[in-house]
Amino acid sequence: MLIRNVSVLIVPEQGECRVDEAQDIHVQDDRIVAITPTADASDAGEPPTEVVDGSGLLAVPGLVNSHTHSPMVMMRGAAEDLNIEDWFNRRIWPMEVNLTPERVRVGARLACAEMLLAGVTTFVDHYFHADQIAAAAIESGIRADLAPTFFSSAGQDAVDAAFETTGDLSARHPRITASLGPHATYTVTDEDLRRTADLARSDGRRIHLHAAETDDQTQASLEKHGVTPIQVLERTGVLEAGALVAHGCGIREEDLPILERYADRTTVASCPKVYLKLAMSEVTPIKRLRSAGVNVGIGTDGAAVHNTLDVWEAIRMVALTQKQREHDAEWMTLSDTLRLATRGSAAAAGLENQIGVLEPGRQADIALVDLSAPHHQPVHDPRAALVYSMRASDVVTVLVAGQIVVRDRQLTTMDLAEVLADAKSLAHTLVDLSQGGAVQHYAP
Ligand SMILES: [Zn+2]
Repeated sequence: MLIRNVSVLIVPEQGECRVDEAQDIHVQDDRIVAITPTADASDAGEPPTEVVDGSGLLAVPGLVNSHTHSPMVMMRGAAEDLNIEDWFNRRIWPMEVNLTPERVRVGARLACAEMLLAGVTTFVDHYFHADQIAAAAIESGIRADLAPTFFSSAGQDAVDAAFETTGDLSARHPRITASLGPHATYTVTDEDLRRTADLARSDGRRIHLHAAETDDQTQASLEKHGVTPIQVLERTGVLEAGALVAHGCGIREEDLPILERYADRTTVASCPKVYLKLAMSEVTPIKRLRSAGVNVGIGTDGAAVHNTLDVWEAIRMVALTQKQREHDAEWMTLSDTLRLATRGSAAAAGLENQIGVLEPGRQADIALVDLSAPHHQPVHDPRAALVYSMRASDVVTVLVAGQIVVRDRQLTTMDLAEVLADAKSLAHTLVDLSQGGAVQHYAP
């Protein structure tokens, strides 16, 4: 396949990002094999099987949602204007009593549709019934790293079942990888975290969990246990095994030397819209983490608080909240933001050698975006358009592993009308609170 005459976003490991105009992207099977200046049709050699006209479009690495709970799209808008404690205890955890495999699958299909149409080609998920999420991901054509989630309060059988699902998922499909998914340091015992770390080391897997989500959680951990959540991750072996830590807004100065020791295998995923919405006192300390050599990726978290799975929105929020946090408009530049969104989030997915950059040898996970709408024009700097003006609807065509999954703003893999109708017909069952009970109680 050939994507012809397209502009290409180049994201170097360091320094300024740039856009190369009039390029041809050559794709063979699932990979990019070459990127060359657009040649005359007359001097082309072997004719490609399929040509995608990229005229007027900008090719960017397919986005990665580096922390989400995809089926929670079914609870969009059903837990608003609440503090974090009420959000968990009065809405989300009582609602999750209603989860069934079918409802999770319907939610995951909706989530995959939303993400692909927005140019998100990989998501890093953390949820229950992960086998159903895998099925939706495989059907939709998206790439996913899935962590079957567990609470210690659910009992040893539930923990073992989550471990088993992680093992089963890995062999399902080349686009699916699996991680271990303890919920958080305050909902999983040290003993279960140790078991998770042992299994991660023996199976060569990563651990995806919430830790130090807020400064209040860190304070509660210090008061109850005398250690920070990051210290819990160290003493239970989670950091040594390799962890994707969601949020980390409550990471303290004394945690940084610890994280620095495991920087080669640690990522923190930042989802700032959630921190603003829940009125949290801190956002992820990205500047300090990067100084300690720790990778950072960008995610949305679940749509029960983020409302969308729009990673463009998350990217913009990262740039804005980091400038505000550091009181420094010159920090988190366009290039640094785009690097975090591409290379950083690819590493968060554990796929730093596979995706995140458009270059020969990488997986052909590509989004073609259109900057011709009024909210982009005139384009003095396409990098600024990507960070500050993009809307999900500006995404025109999307490839994952060399397959076209969105063509001219339409999904090619699923019937969107059916996906939407299924979600609509089941939505009320997920938010029903008449059953009573809850899957967990929030008391960090
Ligand atoms: Zn989360």
